[in-house]
Amino acid sequence: MSQFNNQQEMIRIRGLHKSYGEHAVLRGIDFDVLPSQVVVVIGPSGSGKSTLLRCCNGLEVAQAGTVDICGKTLQANGALLPEAALNQLRMQVGMVFQSFNLFPHLSVLENVTVGPRKLRGMGRDEANALAEDLLKKVGLSQKTAAMPASLSGGQKQRVAIARALAMQPKVMLFDEPTSALDPELVGEVLQVMKLLAREGMTMMVVTHEMGFARDVADVVAVMDGGVILESGSPEVIFSQPREPRTREFLQAVL
Ligand code: ADP
Ligand code: MG
Repeated sequence: MSQFNNQQEMIRIRGLHKSYGEHAVLRGIDFDVLPSQVVVVIGPSGSGKSTLLRCCNGLEVAQAGTVDICGKTLQANGALLPEAALNQLRMQVGMVFQSFNLFPHLSVLENVTVGPRKLRGMGRDEANALAEDLLKKVGLSQKTAAMPASLSGGQKQRVAIARALAMQPKVMLFDEPTSALDPELVGEVLQVMKLLAREGMTMMVVTHEMGFARDVADVVAVMDGGVILESGSPEVIFSQPREPRTREFLQAVL
């Protein structure tokens, strides 16, 4: 009956199991992300956070379980959607990585326009106008003609966010977007993410920035050893965690 819900999940994960050889990395994940929710995923290194995000846009395939995006099944029990449909669905899911992955030979503007032009068939003028709007939103109006190599890490990551937004996704996935940045550049990227959250973007964010989690998250999910130990509001997770492993993790990072 899920397709008749008024508040259909943006991301619906059920029974997700993934192993690399003998090594079980996701051991039964059930999780929903609702429209406009900001979910922050925390947990120790190696707990499966990146793998979980990558399963949500089909970069990884889990051996068992399902991932639905906007009511469409992206993967089920080891099988991804066929390629054409997969590419359509992937456009709904923007992803931002720790390493910015900009195209080094393209200008800032071209980095943002290439997706809409090549994948959405958008004309040059429309794509340029969209990119200019998005670069303004991330505070980089002055940098449209710059090459990536001339930018700071914080600027590069803001271009990467604009590039992801240019595909007009319904959900944005962020995998430690500020972990590669010098400390003084973290704030400008978090600021942009806060703006997106305020605008109602649905977001799933892996981060060690506990201040961001406290301020922006609707739900904090704690991963450990391939499972979600617990999830709840930041108030509950940070003040009254249920699980001893959550307390240990928070003591180590706070
Ligand atoms: P996290 O993002 O929480 O640090 P990951 O999802 O990156 O965790 O990794 C979870 C576990 O899966 C780690 O033990 C990691 O070594 C392992 N892993 C991740 N990717 C691969 C891969 N491509 N091949 C083998 N093992 C992997
Ligand atoms: Mg990771």
